[in-house]
Amino acid sequence: MLDLDVMIDEETIQKRIGEMAEEIDKCYHGESIIAICVLRGAIYFTVDLTKKMKTPIETDFIRVSSYVGTESTGNIIMKLDISENIENRDVLIIEDIIDTGYTLKYLRDYLLTKNPKSLRIAVLADKEERRKVEVPIDFVGFKIPDKFIVGYGFDYDNSYRNLPYIGSMKE
Ligand code: 5GP
Repeated sequence: MLDLDVMIDEETIQKRIGEMAEEIDKCYHGESIIAICVLRGAIYFTVDLTKKMKTPIETDFIRVSSYVGTESTGNIIMKLDISENIENRDVLIIEDIIDTGYTLKYLRDYLLTKNPKSLRIAVLADKEERRKVEVPIDFVGFKIPDKFIVGYGFDYDNSYRNLPYIGSMKE
C-alpha cells in the first residue's frame, strides 16, 4: 500500500463536483451536449459530475497516452477515438487533470478539426504551476500544488484509482 497524505477528502470532492455541475448546467441552458470522458483517469469524475447535471448528455470516450512513469513527455498517442459525430454539437471534454497541458492541447486541437458547435473543457484538478502550453479551461474543480496525486481516478501504475479521496505521495 502506498503511503499517502489525504489532499482532498471525499466529501470535499463531491461538494465541489456538485457546484461544477450547476455551473455547467447554467452554461448550456438545457441544450443537449456530448460529454467526452478522457479515459482512463476521468471515469470517476465523469460519472459523478454527469449524475449531478441536468443537461441532457450523450456520453463518448477518448483515450490518449503520454506518460512514461510519472513525467509527462508531450508525446501523445491516440489509443481510442470517439465514436459519435460531433459536428455542429456542443461538446464538453471531461478530463481528470491538466498538468503540462500537452494532453488537453492535443485533444482540443484534434476535436476542433471535427467542427463542433462549441468545445468546452472541465477538469477536476489543475496543476497550474506546471503548465508548458496554454489551453483554455472552462471549468476547474481544484487548483492543486505540484505533487503527484493518487486516488479518485488518479493512478499509480494503474492501481489505486478507486480510492474515494485524492491523496498525495508522502515525501
Ligand atoms: P498533461 O498532458 O497536462 O501534462 O498531463 C495530463 C495527464 O497526466 C493526465 O491525464 C493524467 O493522466 C496525468 N497526470 C498528471 N498529473 C498527475 C498526477 O499527479 N497523478 C496521476 N496519477 N496522473 C497525473
